[in-house]
Amino acid sequence: MERLQKVIANAGITSRRKAEDFILQGRVKVNGQVVRKLGTKVKEKDVVEVDDVPIEKEEPVYYLFYKPRGVISAVADDRGREVVTDYFKEVEARIFPVGRLDYDTSGILLVTNDGEFAHLMMHPKSKIKKTYIAKVVGKPSKEALEALRRGIVIDGRKTAPAKVKLKSVRRKTNRSIVELTIHEGRYHQVRKMFETIGHPVEKLKREKYGFLTLDGLAPGEKRPLKPVEVKKLK
Ligand code: URA
Repeated sequence: MERLQKVIANAGITSRRKAEDFILQGRVKVNGQVVRKLGTKVKEKDVVEVDDVPIEKEEPVYYLFYKPRGVISAVADDRGREVVTDYFKEVEARIFPVGRLDYDTSGILLVTNDGEFAHLMMHPKSKIKKTYIAKVVGKPSKEALEALRRGIVIDGRKTAPAKVKLKSVRRKTNRSIVELTIHEGRYHQVRKMFETIGHPVEKLKREKYGFLTLDGLAPGEKRPLKPVEVKKLK
Protein backbone atom coordinates (compact mmCIF):
# COMPACT_ATOMS: atom_id res chain seq x y z
CA MET A 1 0.00 0.00 0.00
CA GLU A 2 1.33 3.38 -0.97
CA ARG A 3 0.11 6.92 -0.72
CA LEU A 4 -1.63 8.11 -3.86
CA GLN A 5 0.56 11.18 -4.38
CA LYS A 6 3.66 9.01 -4.09
CA VAL A 7 2.37 6.56 -6.69
CA ILE A 8 1.73 9.44 -9.11
CA ALA A 9 5.12 11.03 -8.43
CA ASN A 10 6.86 7.68 -8.87
CA ALA A 11 5.25 7.22 -12.26
CA GLY A 12 7.37 10.13 -13.44
CA ILE A 13 4.43 12.36 -14.34
CA THR A 14 5.15 15.13 -11.91
CA SER A 15 6.55 16.05 -8.52
CA ARG A 16 4.82 14.93 -5.37
CA ARG A 17 3.76 18.49 -4.59
CA LYS A 18 2.04 18.81 -7.98
CA ALA A 19 0.55 15.34 -7.58
CA GLU A 20 -1.10 16.63 -4.41
CA ASP A 21 -2.52 19.56 -6.37
CA PHE A 22 -3.87 17.16 -9.02
CA ILE A 23 -5.64 15.17 -6.32
CA LEU A 24 -7.14 18.28 -4.71
CA GLN A 25 -8.27 19.50 -8.14
CA GLY A 26 -10.21 16.27 -8.69
CA ARG A 27 -8.03 15.17 -11.60
CA VAL A 28 -7.16 11.80 -10.09
CA LYS A 29 -9.23 8.63 -10.17
CA VAL A 30 -8.66 5.34 -8.41
CA ASN A 31 -10.52 2.43 -9.99
CA GLY A 32 -12.74 4.88 -11.82
CA GLN A 33 -13.67 7.00 -8.79
CA VAL A 34 -12.42 10.56 -8.27
CA VAL A 35 -10.33 10.71 -5.10
CA ARG A 36 -9.72 14.10 -3.52
CA LYS A 37 -8.27 12.97 -0.24
CA LEU A 38 -4.52 13.33 0.13
CA GLY A 39 -2.75 10.32 1.52
CA THR A 40 -5.31 7.81 0.25
CA LYS A 41 -3.60 4.43 0.22
CA VAL A 42 -3.57 2.46 -3.02
CA LYS A 43 -2.62 -1.13 -3.75
CA GLU A 44 -0.42 -2.41 -6.56
CA LYS A 45 -3.44 -3.65 -8.54
CA ASP A 46 -5.46 -0.42 -8.22
CA VAL A 47 -5.83 1.54 -11.45
CA VAL A 48 -4.76 5.15 -10.98
CA GLU A 49 -5.71 7.69 -13.62
CA VAL A 50 -4.65 11.32 -14.01
CA ASP A 51 -6.90 13.32 -16.33
CA ASP A 52 -8.47 9.99 -17.34
CA VAL A 53 -5.13 8.56 -18.48
CA PRO A 54 -3.97 5.50 -16.54
CA ILE A 55 -0.49 5.99 -15.17
CA GLU A 56 2.20 3.59 -16.21
CA LYS A 57 4.81 2.60 -13.75
CA GLU A 58 8.19 3.38 -15.20
CA GLU A 59 11.46 1.92 -14.03
CA PRO A 60 13.24 4.71 -12.20
CA VAL A 61 16.26 6.17 -13.96
CA TYR A 62 18.86 8.54 -12.55
CA TYR A 63 21.47 10.57 -14.43
CA LEU A 64 24.21 13.00 -13.62
CA PHE A 65 24.22 15.67 -16.33
CA TYR A 66 26.82 18.36 -17.03
CA LYS A 67 24.52 21.21 -17.96
CA PRO A 68 26.16 23.65 -20.34
CA ARG A 69 25.50 27.37 -20.05
CA GLY A 70 22.59 28.55 -22.18
CA VAL A 71 20.29 25.62 -21.40
CA ILE A 72 17.04 25.83 -19.44
CA SER A 73 16.53 23.48 -16.48
CA ALA A 74 13.16 22.31 -17.75
CA VAL A 75 11.53 19.80 -20.07
CA ALA A 76 10.06 22.39 -22.45
CA ASP A 77 10.44 26.08 -23.22
CA ASP A 78 7.77 28.20 -24.86
CA ARG A 79 10.45 30.39 -26.46
CA GLY A 80 12.13 27.44 -28.13
CA ARG A 81 15.39 27.67 -26.20
CA GLU A 82 17.42 24.57 -25.49
CA VAL A 83 16.22 22.53 -22.52
CA VAL A 84 17.85 19.78 -20.47
CA THR A 85 15.76 17.01 -22.03
CA ASP A 86 17.14 17.91 -25.48
CA TYR A 87 20.23 16.08 -24.25
CA PHE A 88 18.24 12.96 -23.37
CA LYS A 89 16.45 12.29 -26.64
CA GLU A 90 17.29 8.58 -26.63
CA VAL A 91 15.94 8.16 -23.07
CA GLU A 92 12.32 7.06 -23.18
CA ALA A 93 11.50 7.63 -19.51
CA ARG A 94 9.67 10.84 -18.61
CA ILE A 95 12.61 12.53 -17.04
CA PHE A 96 12.97 15.99 -15.52
CA PRO A 97 15.74 17.90 -13.76
CA VAL A 98 16.06 17.76 -9.98
CA GLY A 99 15.75 21.43 -9.07
CA ARG A 100 17.32 23.98 -11.33
CA LEU A 101 20.43 25.76 -12.38
CA ASP A 102 20.08 29.19 -13.97
CA TYR A 103 20.15 29.45 -17.76
CA ASP A 104 23.67 30.88 -17.54
CA THR A 105 24.96 28.48 -14.89
CA SER A 106 26.80 25.33 -15.92
CA GLY A 107 27.54 22.20 -13.94
CA ILE A 108 26.01 19.23 -12.16
CA LEU A 109 22.33 18.65 -12.49
CA LEU A 110 20.61 15.42 -11.53
CA VAL A 111 17.96 14.19 -13.94
CA THR A 112 15.42 11.50 -13.10
CA ASN A 113 11.86 10.26 -13.60
CA ASP A 114 11.55 9.53 -9.87
CA GLY A 115 9.46 12.29 -8.34
CA GLU A 116 9.90 10.96 -4.85
CA PHE A 117 13.68 11.00 -5.21
CA ALA A 118 13.59 14.56 -6.59
CA HIS A 119 11.42 15.66 -3.69
CA LEU A 120 13.86 14.11 -1.23
CA MET A 121 16.89 15.77 -2.86
CA MET A 122 15.27 19.19 -2.86
CA HIS A 123 13.86 19.06 0.63
CA PRO A 124 15.58 21.58 2.94
CA LYS A 125 16.11 18.77 5.46
CA SER A 126 18.30 16.81 3.05
CA LYS A 127 21.08 19.42 3.51
CA ILE A 128 23.04 18.11 0.52
CA LYS A 129 26.15 20.21 0.04
CA LYS A 130 26.58 21.88 -3.34
CA THR A 131 29.86 23.47 -4.32
CA TYR A 132 29.95 26.35 -6.78
CA ILE A 133 32.85 28.07 -8.50
CA ALA A 134 32.05 31.71 -9.10
CA LYS A 135 33.94 34.26 -11.14
CA VAL A 136 33.10 37.56 -9.50
CA VAL A 137 33.85 41.19 -10.17
CA GLY A 138 36.60 42.66 -7.98
CA LYS A 139 38.37 41.10 -5.02
CA PRO A 140 36.17 40.35 -2.02
CA SER A 141 37.75 41.47 1.24
CA LYS A 142 38.30 39.12 4.18
CA GLU A 143 35.32 40.72 5.89
CA ALA A 144 33.10 40.19 2.87
CA LEU A 145 34.09 36.52 2.66
CA GLU A 146 33.53 36.16 6.39
CA ALA A 147 30.05 37.61 5.98
CA LEU A 148 29.27 34.95 3.37
CA ARG A 149 30.59 32.30 5.75
CA ARG A 150 28.45 33.46 8.64
CA GLY A 151 25.38 34.00 6.52
CA ILE A 152 23.90 37.13 5.02
CA VAL A 153 20.38 38.38 4.55
CA ILE A 154 18.94 37.83 1.08
CA ASP A 155 15.24 38.28 0.36
CA GLY A 156 14.71 39.12 4.02
CA ARG A 157 16.17 35.91 5.42
CA LYS A 158 19.66 34.94 6.51
CA THR A 159 21.51 32.25 4.59
CA ALA A 160 22.89 29.25 6.48
CA PRO A 161 26.64 29.22 7.20
CA ALA A 162 28.68 28.52 4.06
CA LYS A 163 32.17 27.32 3.24
CA VAL A 164 34.05 29.95 1.27
CA LYS A 165 37.50 29.89 -0.34
CA LEU A 166 39.13 32.62 -2.37
CA LYS A 167 40.84 30.54 -5.06
CA SER A 168 42.56 33.22 -7.13
CA VAL A 169 42.60 36.88 -8.00
CA ARG A 170 43.12 38.22 -11.52
CA ARG A 171 44.40 41.73 -11.03
CA LYS A 172 44.58 42.57 -14.72
CA THR A 173 40.90 41.92 -15.30
CA ASN A 174 39.82 42.78 -11.72
CA ARG A 175 38.07 39.45 -11.24
CA SER A 176 38.28 36.75 -8.54
CA ILE A 177 37.50 33.06 -8.44
CA VAL A 178 35.66 32.00 -5.29
CA GLU A 179 34.53 28.53 -4.22
CA LEU A 180 31.31 28.47 -2.23
CA THR A 181 29.67 25.46 -0.60
CA ILE A 182 26.08 25.70 0.58
CA HIS A 183 23.35 23.22 1.34
CA GLU A 184 20.37 25.46 0.74
CA GLY A 185 18.88 25.93 -2.70
CA ARG A 186 17.11 29.27 -2.67
CA TYR A 187 16.24 31.11 -5.86
CA HIS A 188 19.39 32.62 -7.44
CA GLN A 189 21.02 32.10 -4.07
CA VAL A 190 24.68 32.21 -5.07
CA ARG A 191 24.27 35.20 -7.37
CA LYS A 192 22.31 37.05 -4.69
CA MET A 193 24.90 36.27 -2.00
CA PHE A 194 27.73 37.73 -4.06
CA GLU A 195 25.58 40.64 -5.22
CA THR A 196 24.89 41.46 -1.56
CA ILE A 197 28.60 41.70 -0.71
CA GLY A 198 29.13 43.94 -3.74
CA HIS A 199 30.84 41.42 -6.04
CA PRO A 200 28.43 40.38 -8.77
CA VAL A 201 28.85 36.96 -10.37
CA GLU A 202 30.00 36.89 -13.98
CA LYS A 203 30.23 33.15 -14.41
CA LEU A 204 28.90 30.32 -12.28
CA LYS A 205 29.46 26.59 -12.29
CA ARG A 206 28.21 23.91 -9.90
CA GLU A 207 31.13 21.55 -9.42
CA LYS A 208 29.87 19.21 -6.74
CA TYR A 209 26.55 17.84 -5.62
CA GLY A 210 27.06 15.95 -2.36
CA PHE A 211 29.83 13.46 -3.14
CA LEU A 212 29.18 13.65 -6.90
CA THR A 213 31.58 15.49 -9.22
CA LEU A 214 31.77 16.19 -12.94
CA ASP A 215 34.82 13.95 -13.37
CA GLY A 216 35.04 12.48 -16.86
CA LEU A 217 32.21 14.58 -18.30
CA ALA A 218 32.30 17.50 -20.73
CA PRO A 219 29.49 20.08 -20.92
CA GLY A 220 26.42 18.46 -22.47
CA GLU A 221 27.46 14.95 -21.42
CA LYS A 222 25.76 12.68 -18.92
CA ARG A 223 26.16 9.35 -17.19
CA PRO A 224 23.73 7.12 -15.34
CA LEU A 225 24.16 7.18 -11.59
CA LYS A 226 25.29 3.87 -10.13
CA PRO A 227 22.71 2.20 -7.87
CA VAL A 228 25.12 2.61 -4.96
CA GLU A 229 25.29 6.37 -5.65
CA VAL A 230 21.50 6.67 -5.69
CA LYS A 231 21.36 4.77 -2.41
CA LYS A 232 23.96 7.02 -0.84
CA LEU A 233 22.11 10.18 -1.91
CA LYS A 234 18.87 8.96 -0.33
N1 URA B 1 22.62 29.84 -7.30
C1 URA B 1 22.43 30.69 -8.33
O1 URA B 1 22.38 31.89 -8.14
N2 URA B 1 22.27 30.17 -9.55
C2 URA B 1 22.31 28.85 -9.82
O2 URA B 1 22.16 28.45 -10.97
C3 URA B 1 22.53 27.99 -8.74
C4 URA B 1 22.67 28.51 -7.49
